[in-house]
Amino acid sequence: MTIKTWPSAPEINSGVAEIDTRQLQLLQLIYRAHLLVDQGASTAELLRQAQDLIVCAASYFRQEKEVMQALGHPNLATVLTSQNNTLQNLLDQFNSCAFNREAIGNFILFLTNSLIAHVKTIDNNVTLTGKSLSHKIIAPLLGPEPLNSYHAVDIYIVDDEQQHIDLMIEMINIAGLSATGFTSAKLFIDHPIANTDIIFLDLSMPDLDGIEVMRTLYDKGSIPTYILVSGFDERVLHSARQFAEAKNIPVAKTLSKPINTQEFIHYISQLHIKTRLQLTKACVPQLQPANIQEQLSLEQLKIAIRENQLVLFYQPKLNMKSRQVTGFEALVRLQHPTLGLIFPDQFIAMAEQNNLISELTNEVFRLATDDYSLFRAAGVNPGISINISAQNLLDLSMPERFAKLADAKNIPTEMITIELTETAILKSVSDSLDILNRLRMKGFSLSIDDFGTGYSSLVQLYQAPFTELKIDQSFVMRMLDDDEALSIVKICILLAKELRLTSVAEGVESQQVWDKLEQLGCDLAQGYFISKPIPINDCCEWIKREAANKPLH
Ligand code: C2E
Ligand code: CA
Ligand code: CA
Repeated sequence: MTIKTWPSAPEINSGVAEIDTRQLQLLQLIYRAHLLVDQGASTAELLRQAQDLIVCAASYFRQEKEVMQALGHPNLATVLTSQNNTLQNLLDQFNSCAFNREAIGNFILFLTNSLIAHVKTIDNNVTLTGKSLSHKIIAPLLGPEPLNSYHAVDIYIVDDEQQHIDLMIEMINIAGLSATGFTSAKLFIDHPIANTDIIFLDLSMPDLDGIEVMRTLYDKGSIPTYILVSGFDERVLHSARQFAEAKNIPVAKTLSKPINTQEFIHYISQLHIKTRLQLTKACVPQLQPANIQEQLSLEQLKIAIRENQLVLFYQPKLNMKSRQVTGFEALVRLQHPTLGLIFPDQFIAMAEQNNLISELTNEVFRLATDDYSLFRAAGVNPGISINISAQNLLDLSMPERFAKLADAKNIPTEMITIELTETAILKSVSDSLDILNRLRMKGFSLSIDDFGTGYSSLVQLYQAPFTELKIDQSFVMRMLDDDEALSIVKICILLAKELRLTSVAEGVESQQVWDKLEQLGCDLAQGYFISKPIPINDCCEWIKREAANKPLH
């Protein structure tokens, strides 16, 4: 197979010498990859080349972003959007790419076109605004990291059976990577291991078992990423994973022997690239400044709530049978004039601890009900979900206030769902039940959020008038490779059916998880696979696109 359509190389002319140099290096690498394809290189070589190109693109993006930030470039937002989209598309394509020469050759062509399109965007945007740039500002930002310096991620296999090691190394080689095997766990723990390494660890070995290996390395300060492998009971894998997680040791996956070859090759190549991208740090540009907690003061939070700095992003919930949008969950963000967009985990707790949560919730309710007119203008009447905190359940006047507000804006309370976590109710059971019952009587729906993570989930379900059960995303995300998580998801769906509640799975990130949930009879799904939370102005566009893509029933 040969790739005949080598796209014409663009003019390298952003007007910024450093960007031009990096672009040139990137294009040279792409050109080399094309030569490899034309020369009939092996699948493994091509895969390796494709991975290197993605890592180089991420590294190039990081430098490009830093240069443009330093210049205070007016087109920074356009460039970051182009970077984000390009990288996300590349990863999606790579993850769904079959591992044969033709498919990888096509992927390299796709990658070439995407990167060239991006380079053209930059060149157009940068040259348009002139080229009077001080090299003194830019040079130190680029640092010593050359574009093609590859961060090393070593892979180790620790298994007492040589045959298993040989088989796994063979599969890893097919993925264009290499690995080192150890049949003795005792010897392995004396080997220097970096936190960026990937370890396939057999749990049952005669000299030292897998748990002891993880513990010993942990005590020495080595916390690599593990893939736990076992020929025995799935429960052993599961509880070993729990042990690791209790210590914050990352376990990327658990594998039962015998291992499915194709799946394994795909998996290792995805994990390897993910780890390398994390090493290039800003693989996906972060718009949010670091250490927000230090930067956002209580005073700033008060001002934000009072001076319209809170904004809502909306995440759709889809009916799994009809694929129709049933509603949107409103998720609050703080749009700070200097600190940028700040996520709720950085300020909700602060609001709760400083008696500001009531004001915040009122503001969220006001914003959501205001935004509703935009949904209506677009010809849709979706349900809206709003999150409340434990402390809101102490405010006995809340049900009346919410009902009045909804009425004033002509929104039937039946369209509004109030989401709260089960731990929220625990704080004051009698007041909580008072408020929840009155919310229900006024027509609001009630959702028990993060279900399964609290300690008395069943009691809460029994006592409070919930209408919806949201299965916690930690179970949903793992259900395909953790049997225990799958059992919990199954039971939640059954429980919801028995109690006549709507079951919602959140954290749905892939087609495979969607398919499994559909098969289990889950009612609604929410997650990045469907859409990330988006600003209201993008929602109507999203709804139209969804309607256009939907197969007719
Ligand atoms: P939550 O209510 O459990 O909301 C789901 C969180 O998971 C959201 O994070 C959402 O962006 C994220 N998410 C959704 N789908 C996926 C997925 O497929 N994968 C992954 N990895 N994550 C996904 P966000 O917006 O950062 O909100 C975090 C938490 O902050 C929320 O958790 C909720 O407890 C709280 N929160 C958000 N808005 C409000 C609010 O207006 N009031 C109160 N009291 N709490 C809020
Ligand atoms: Ca929620
Ligand atoms: Ca949740």
